[in-house]
Amino acid sequence: MANLPPGSDGTHDRICPLCEACCGLKVQTEGGRVTAIRGADDDVFSKGYLCPKGVALKDLHEDPDRLRTPQIRRGAQWFEATWDEAFDEIERRLVPILQAHGRDALALSVGNPAAHKMGLLLYFARLARAAGTKNIFSASTLDQMPKQLSCGWMFGHWLSIPVPDIERSDFLLVIGANPMASNGSLWTVPDFRGKARALRERGGRLVVIDPRRTETAAVADAHHFIRPGSDVFLLAAMVHTLFDEGLVRLGRLSAHVAGLDAVREAVAPFAPEHVAARCAIAATAIRQLARELAATPRGCVYGRIGTCTQAYGTTCSWLVDVLSVLTGHLDEPGGAMFPKAAAFAANTLGPAGVGRGVATGRHASRVSGAPEVYGELPMTCLAEEIETPGPGQIRALITVAGNPVLSSPGGERLARALEGLDFMISLDIYRNETTRHAHVILPGLSALEDSHYDVPFPQFSYRNHARFSPAVLAPPAGQPPEWQNLLRLMAIVKGQGARADVQALDDALLADDLRRLAPERAEPMTQALAGRNGPERLLDLALRTGPYGDDFGRRPEGLTLEQVQAAPGGIDLGPLQPRIPEVLRTPSGRVELAPPALLADLPRAWAELEAPAAPLVVIGRRDVRSNNSWMHNLPLLAKGPFRGTALVHPDDAARLGLADGARARLAGAGGSVEVTVALSDTLMPGVLSLPHGWGHGLPGAQMALAAERPGANLNAVLDDSARDPLSGNAVLSGAAVTLAPLGTGLTG
Ligand code: SF4
Repeated sequence: MANLPPGSDGTHDRICPLCEACCGLKVQTEGGRVTAIRGADDDVFSKGYLCPKGVALKDLHEDPDRLRTPQIRRGAQWFEATWDEAFDEIERRLVPILQAHGRDALALSVGNPAAHKMGLLLYFARLARAAGTKNIFSASTLDQMPKQLSCGWMFGHWLSIPVPDIERSDFLLVIGANPMASNGSLWTVPDFRGKARALRERGGRLVVIDPRRTETAAVADAHHFIRPGSDVFLLAAMVHTLFDEGLVRLGRLSAHVAGLDAVREAVAPFAPEHVAARCAIAATAIRQLARELAATPRGCVYGRIGTCTQAYGTTCSWLVDVLSVLTGHLDEPGGAMFPKAAAFAANTLGPAGVGRGVATGRHASRVSGAPEVYGELPMTCLAEEIETPGPGQIRALITVAGNPVLSSPGGERLARALEGLDFMISLDIYRNETTRHAHVILPGLSALEDSHYDVPFPQFSYRNHARFSPAVLAPPAGQPPEWQNLLRLMAIVKGQGARADVQALDDALLADDLRRLAPERAEPMTQALAGRNGPERLLDLALRTGPYGDDFGRRPEGLTLEQVQAAPGGIDLGPLQPRIPEVLRTPSGRVELAPPALLADLPRAWAELEAPAAPLVVIGRRDVRSNNSWMHNLPLLAKGPFRGTALVHPDDAARLGLADGARARLAGAGGSVEVTVALSDTLMPGVLSLPHGWGHGLPGAQMALAAERPGANLNAVLDDSARDPLSGNAVLSGAAVTLAPLGTGLTG
């Protein structure tokens, strides 16, 4: 069935933009309103699956707090403005700052939701290049940067991240991840529950390692508690066991791997018997895990947020993939495989099998000296870069779809720093705890008013596919899409003025792209793309020049955007296929098993092996009805029991004199918050779990429902100077905390 025009009554297809699972939805509309949302049975990728968040897209669209008009702040007073007034204000205030203090006086910060909006993601990159500042920040350094860095060093590109081929696997070891709640992260796998069930029904085993008996652990064949922050010891000990017991089998990859001996040597001290106490997992169990992984014909390891958001995040991320290589499970069906995305995947472009690799540390943050990684500085450096006077001080900030005041350690400090900025602009749909500090807010379209293609997530998908969603509803008259707003900002920072011709700018950028891509064919390609605009034009270009594309007529049977649009349920491009050596972009043309910086990090861990355990440490938690900070204002997701409680093991609660429902003060190196305690024996004793993204209701924010049950901000207790030194990722997991009774209370 063909796609309906935006705004017409009927059933529209729309990929859900609310998490990485990217489920296909059927959105029923009548009279310009959404009447129902359900999973799309004919979606080739998600096959009808959806979670409660998908249905809440209607709430998000209708949320009265969602901004529809540009806002200008004068003092504490907000005023609605026209688009021209807003951009004139930006030009009037931003340009003098750049002229007086240079490009680095402007910082850019982007949050996770941008990854789910094609226009935002593609044009944020253009704005960042045009701004020419070293001060680029993103939620990546609060989340997945360690994995991107380890994979960049091993495979040559930061988006070459192998994912479990779960539909053909017989053994899946999950470490520090909860795909039952998330449906994958850096692994796009809608209906993980169904796929895990199928794995077990065909005789496979699911094993989980986590300090909490998570929803994933509850459906697993085995679960091991692990002391937070000690994954590096577990993983190194498993690698040690493979060498120690003669279990290393590189198989097909033998000719494509460099550094095997260096890894053997580096993990030599990490015998399971030495690290067991630190991990709180018996040495026999560690050895058995390594043996089982080695013995399973089709097995894989998946490590995620818990393995990333700690002091050894990059080293943990590396060791996860080392395990796959050493057991012959990397790039094999049923193992950890590289998706081949139809568009935008750098590991499908240029010469196959070799490349420039990745570089980091090309500059460093001004105050802490934290190295740049992929052009970014750690998010936890943002506040000090604003606060600290001197050349290069940040005086102006553009935030895009983010809320670092809640999502980054040191949020209170960041909020104070934001107040000290000369000028701040936010592209956001909410006046949240961060954007309340802006001087101008430029609202984006509702997801239902915008067309969509997932730019990053097919690069992490359990199966190859190409899917496009047209807008479901017509955008409000006069409201530009975000990509046009980003182009206007770009025009301002380039000195072309707030009233620059956006179309001419976009055409000029495309012409530059084509000159770089295929100078001899730039003219006919431009003509072939005529009739499209903005991100859809870039998408058509990426699809046609991608691995399945028609290459503008050279492969007539290949893909075009027109073909993808003509398939509302998407186009299935088949199961993942072995890609080594073609996928590699390392200078050596091999899998670099022993990147020097990672080898050098193991002694740092070893030196810390005997560090005494704190009596209580904190970890985060993922809930199926939430994703970071921005879904707490949606009635469908906010209703029911409060989800921001602090889970505490009954033994710890008894020791601390706390009862279920008690109010308590949680304190850490970064500060303290009041929490509501919920007793749970799903926690390992000595571990407390509090989800992040809460702490709403701050003065000036406009998210009324979220403010009714604000919850406590986990990040407020965390030390904003604690980072993985390699990736700059914040340490969010395993920090020492104290918990003390406050008296009884009722709500979060
Ligand atoms: S799992 Fe839920 S939130 Fe995520 S894409 Fe699917 S429906 Fe949307």
